[in-house]
Amino acid sequence: MKNIVIIGSGLAGLQSALILANQVNEETTIHLIERENSIGGLLKSFDYGENGAFDYGAHLFQETGILEVDTFFKDVLNQEEWLVHKDNNREISGCFFNNQIQLHTQFPDVRSCTQELYQAYLADFLFNLNKQADKIKLGYLPNTALEFSKMYFGDKITYEIIAPILEKTFHKNIEELDLQAVYLVPLSRITLLDEILMHDFLNTEIVRKILAYPEQRNLPLDKGSGKSSFYPKKYGMQRWVDELEKKINKKGVKIYCNTQLLDWQIENNQIITLKLKNNEANINISNIKQVIWSAPMFGLVKLLSIDTQDLQYDIPLKTVLVNILLEKELAIQDLYYLYPYDNEYSTYRVTNYSAYCPDAIRNGKYPITLEMLVTEENLKQNLVELAIKELKSMELLNEDNQVFFAKAEILAAGFPMPTIKNLNSFSILRTRIQNKNIHNLTTVGVLSSENVFFQKDIMRNTLEKL
Ligand SMILES: Cc1cc2nc3c(=O)[nH]c(=O)nc-3n(C[C@H](O)[C@H](O)[C@H](O)COP(=O)(O)OP(=O)(O)OC[C@H]3O[C@@H](n4cnc5c(N)ncnc54)[C@H](O)[C@@H]3O)c2cc1C
Repeated sequence: MKNIVIIGSGLAGLQSALILANQVNEETTIHLIERENSIGGLLKSFDYGENGAFDYGAHLFQETGILEVDTFFKDVLNQEEWLVHKDNNREISGCFFNNQIQLHTQFPDVRSCTQELYQAYLADFLFNLNKQADKIKLGYLPNTALEFSKMYFGDKITYEIIAPILEKTFHKNIEELDLQAVYLVPLSRITLLDEILMHDFLNTEIVRKILAYPEQRNLPLDKGSGKSSFYPKKYGMQRWVDELEKKINKKGVKIYCNTQLLDWQIENNQIITLKLKNNEANINISNIKQVIWSAPMFGLVKLLSIDTQDLQYDIPLKTVLVNILLEKELAIQDLYYLYPYDNEYSTYRVTNYSAYCPDAIRNGKYPITLEMLVTEENLKQNLVELAIKELKSMELLNEDNQVFFAKAEILAAGFPMPTIKNLNSFSILRTRIQNKNIHNLTTVGVLSSENVFFQKDIMRNTLEKL
């Protein structure tokens, strides 16, 4: 009898369990090991009893365009159990920029600046575009946020619009940030031209890459990505996790929660035995065919006794989720997400669940989540009060809408800090892990390869590796 052991049960671990369960015969047992008391990682929900569930933060599955990957996540639920967001019903987000709510696009709208400034931004943008057109057309992507922004938007927009937003989000100068930062925020485009011009410019490949369509609801369907997003009709990503758990159980996968990997034995570059511990007992698993590591990399580095003393890290900000139940709908119309870009807000994203899942409404109340990135120092303040203050300041919450319930959650593993220093150190760690040359070890999940963070990247990457 052979054993495959998967460490960590977030999206990457669960996908690995299902893929491998379909590949192996009855001679092989798959063991899924989770440190917490339930599986699912960032796909789980907080359960507040009669106040209902709130997602952890990872929402809406987005199609990748790779049939095998898309089939994997869609097939977990029956077709009629999915809400499908596509075409006119596609995912839409806005932002709070320049002291205004933008319902029309999530990317900073430069037209909201004074006429004088707008003219200066436009002139600098066009001057730069003319110089960079070749590189942009060829799809050249720089490595850092600063180079990307300067190449795509020019110096003036970079230093006066993009840099302050990145700095307020990550508490780092743009010079210190990796390219990933612009995708996390998201600042990969800006809004600059009116609809009549943009409509015609949509036929120009270079401009389409850089500029956002100024009224997202009017974007011609043939110019959209054509990809759909999926969310369970019955509220909560937990629903998907529960169904997947049933599936892998049926296929004989053994699930261990509250379980830690203490140590392993390696011989001839093969992991041969694992020593685990849970609340009840010590568990030894031998005859190891393969180990899939989907948990954060630092645990693996420790097990492999990799020296990290020479590596430097910027400490990540804490990801805080403030889950709030409102008496009435949040005043952002049909937006799924809103990104507060102005300097005074700790909130990075507001999620408006009922905009994409009507079943999110419970007892007539509307759930929202504010994701905040905060320093250790700022953790000391009352985070619920801070969230409500920010909502009021953006005029999203007024006197005729009351907070019915609110709770702040501090995530143990939240957003990575996308600095050049950190991503370089992660890259070196990956090389050191590879250099250990353990033949039956595979790493999947967040940052297991370069630029792997979003769900779609994780699913694509996991499929490639297994
Ligand atoms: C707040 C937040 C919001 C996000 N929102 C989105 C989004 O909207 N869209 C998107 O595409 N992506 C989003 N992401 C990105 C997200 O990282 C991925 O979408 C994905 O869910 C991560 O999956 P994973 O399996 O790699 O990690 P995780 O889901 O973090 O799973 C790792 C699992 O390993 C377990 N574990 C850790 N250490 C050990 C150990 N030593 N032994 C055993 N188990 C261990 C953990 O408890 C956890 O269950 C978000 C991330 C965060 C932090």
